[in-house]
Amino acid sequence: ATRGGRPSFAFYTEELTLQARHRLELGAALRLAVERKELVLYYQPIHDLRTGSLAGVESLVRWQRPVHGLVPPGEFIPLAEEMGLIDRVDAWVMGEACAQMQAWRQRGVSPGFVAVNVSSRLFGGDMLLPRVEEVLAQTGMDASLLEIEVTESAIMDQPDRALAQLDRLHVRGVRLALDDFGTGYSSLLRLKLLPLHKLKIDQGFVRGLPDSQGDRAIVLAIISLAHQLGLKVLAEGVETQAQLDFLVAHGCDLAQGYFFGRPVPAGVLFPDEPLAH
Ligand code: C2E
Ligand code: CA
Ligand code: CA
Ligand code: CA
Repeated sequence: ATRGGRPSFAFYTEELTLQARHRLELGAALRLAVERKELVLYYQPIHDLRTGSLAGVESLVRWQRPVHGLVPPGEFIPLAEEMGLIDRVDAWVMGEACAQMQAWRQRGVSPGFVAVNVSSRLFGGDMLLPRVEEVLAQTGMDASLLEIEVTESAIMDQPDRALAQLDRLHVRGVRLALDDFGTGYSSLLRLKLLPLHKLKIDQGFVRGLPDSQGDRAIVLAIISLAHQLGLKVLAEGVETQAQLDFLVAHGCDLAQGYFFGRPVPAGVLFPDEPLAH
């Protein structure tokens, strides 16, 4: 087969070279982004479904790239992981989120707790616990206000080292949430061993509520499992009233999603000046 009169392998090779060059470029820029303070944190509200009030926020990183604009994490977190930069990104996020939390609290506008996403790299290098200690010492934030979100696949990377660090964090008073629950490879046996505070139901299961019989069954099973294990359960990606109604009716504790609010910069979540009435 030919394309434009040239053999197709030549076309694909050019494509690959372009892709590879783009990735190299992006990688080099990303390496500098942390130092140049180009990363920014957005915060998404998490609501308590029993009281209807704000329970906490999840911090979600973005890359404010000069000229290019705002790059979503899906476009640079995987690259950061491959390049060995993710531990630096996550370490920065941890510091920034806790500093912001303390700034809010000093103004009397605390959003409850702050959740931070942590990838497997920080675990594997045994860096998580020292970084958490450092950040708590620097900011003076209470450990119980910090929630660490980990995915099943991050834990499965190095289960024993992950477990050891998570146990020590638990003793320290930091809360642990299992992110994207139901999408990983974890066994229920492992679930039992983790010092968890919360399960986060992946948005892939919430999307089909309340119509999909399969999604209904899975969400009900996760809510029940969480409660039987003495854990809180949070539904991610809630976009509609009908999804919310189903979750409330079946005892889900917490929810986040566009229905409540998109991730926004700190100054949008809590504007600096009180709004005039
Ligand atoms: P995640 O931790 O599962 O975060 C939830 C994602 O769903 C976020 O995407 C959020 O903006 C999006 N989302 C929230 N509500 C809704 C909704 O109602 N509908 C839909 N369709 N989406 C919703 P975002 O911010 O693009 O982050 C994507 C992923 O990037 C995160 O998934 C997380 O795995 C990763 N990530 C974000 N920040 C960090 C970080 O600081 N460190 C690490 N290691 N990973 C991060
Ligand atoms: Ca998360
Ligand atoms: Ca998630
Ligand atoms: Ca996810």
